[in-house]
Amino acid sequence: MVVQNENCFRLNHLENSWDIDVYIANGGYEVWKKVVAGEIEPNEIIEEVKTSNIRGRGGAGFPTGLKWSFMNRFAPGQKYIVCNSDEGEPGTFKDRDILRYNPHALVEGMAIAAYVIGASAGYNYIRGEFWEPYKRFDNAINQAREAGLLGKNILGTGWDFDLYTHLGAGAYICGEETALIESIEGKKGQPRFKPPFPASYGLYGKPTTINNTETLASIPMILAKGGEWFNDLGVENAGGTKCYSVSGHVNAPGNFEVRMGTPFKDLLELAGGIWKGREFKAVIPGGASTAIIPAEKAMAMNMDYDSIAKAGSFLGAGSVIIMDDQTDIVKVMQNLSHFYWDESCGQCTPCREGTGWLYRVLTRIVEGKGRPEDIAALKDVSGKIMGNVICGLGDAATIALTSALDHYEHEFQHYIEHGCSIFDRT
Ligand code: SF4
Repeated sequence: MVVQNENCFRLNHLENSWDIDVYIANGGYEVWKKVVAGEIEPNEIIEEVKTSNIRGRGGAGFPTGLKWSFMNRFAPGQKYIVCNSDEGEPGTFKDRDILRYNPHALVEGMAIAAYVIGASAGYNYIRGEFWEPYKRFDNAINQAREAGLLGKNILGTGWDFDLYTHLGAGAYICGEETALIESIEGKKGQPRFKPPFPASYGLYGKPTTINNTETLASIPMILAKGGEWFNDLGVENAGGTKCYSVSGHVNAPGNFEVRMGTPFKDLLELAGGIWKGREFKAVIPGGASTAIIPAEKAMAMNMDYDSIAKAGSFLGAGSVIIMDDQTDIVKVMQNLSHFYWDESCGQCTPCREGTGWLYRVLTRIVEGKGRPEDIAALKDVSGKIMGNVICGLGDAATIALTSALDHYEHEFQHYIEHGCSIFDRT
C-alpha cells in the first residue's frame, strides 16, 4: 500500500481546502506565529530544514537548508524571497495543484523563509496560463493579510513582511531563476550570466533566495513535525515526500504525492497502469529535459534522485511522462525539439541556432526525407550545444534526444532507410 498525501496535498480532500479557515483548523500558520514571535531562531530553522534533507523540488535538487544559509540575515539592506511557480516544463503540473488546493502552505512557507533570510518582501512568479491558481494564491495572500499574518507589524511583533504575485506571460525560459528575476523587474525574460548568483545579486540587484513552490509549501510541515520526521519519509540522500505529475499513456493521469524512493512501478499503478491494454515502452521521469528510460530499467528503479540517476536520467521536477509500445520515439523527439527551439531566448548561438537545427533535421527525418548522415548530425549538433550555453535550456534541448538516440537509434535509422516509422508498412 503506497502512502499518499502526507505533506503538500494533505488537505486536498477537504472542501474549500484553499480557504484560510480550513488551513487554520488543520494546524496552519501555527509555525509562522511561533517564528514571528521569536520562539524559533532563524538558525534553528535552517538546521531543521537541513535535518529534513529536503532538496529543491524545481528540478535542480539543491539542498534547501544549505541554500538558505548562503543569505546573511543581518546584512543591511533589502533582501527578497522569490517563489518559482512558473512550472512550464512539459509534463509538469504539480505546483499548479499546490496553488489551487493548498495555497496557504505556500504563503506560510514563504513568510517563514523570508524571516530566516531577513526579507521584508516576497514575490511569487506564477505561470501566465495558471489563471485559476493565480486567483487562488492571490486570494490566500489577501486572507492572510486580513488575518494580520502578513503586512506591517505582523501580530504585533514589529516584523514586516508582504507578499506579491507576479503573473508570467507564457515564456518557458522565465522558469530559469535569473530570467524570472529579469521578468519581475519588467525586462525581457533572459537568463543572466552566473556568477553573481541571486544570493548576492538577485532581484533589483539585492540578495535574493529563490525556491520552488513545492519546496516552500513543504516548510510549514517540516517545522511542525520536525526535520527528522520529514527525513525519515524519504531515502538516504533525499528526505520527505514528492509530488509527481504522471501524464501520457496511462489510465489515470494526475498528481500523486508519495514518499521519496517509492518504486516507479507503484507510481505507475497509482496512475492506473498503461492504457488500452498496451505494453509499457519508456518513460521520461523528470520532465522534458530529462533522459528517456526504457521500460525494463524503469520498472526496476525507485523515484528518488540516486535511483533514477542509476537508471540514466534525473528526477527533475518529478514530471513522469509515460509512453506505451505504440509510441513513435522519433516523433516524440521532433515534438520536444520544436518546443525548445520555440522557447530558446536566443541569447546564445549554440542554443538559438542548434535547437533550430535539431528540429529541422528531425522534421525531415519524420517527413521521410532523412539523409544517411542525419543521425551523426543530430549527435554532433547536440554535442555542440551541451555545456556551451548560458542556461539549462540549451542543455535540456539535447538530453532527451541524446538518450533516445542511445536507446532507440534503430527507430531513427528505420525512418532514414525506409522513409517511414517502424509502425508503418514499407
Ligand atoms: Fe537563452 Fe538558450 Fe542561452 Fe538559455 S541556453 S540563455 S535559453 S539562448
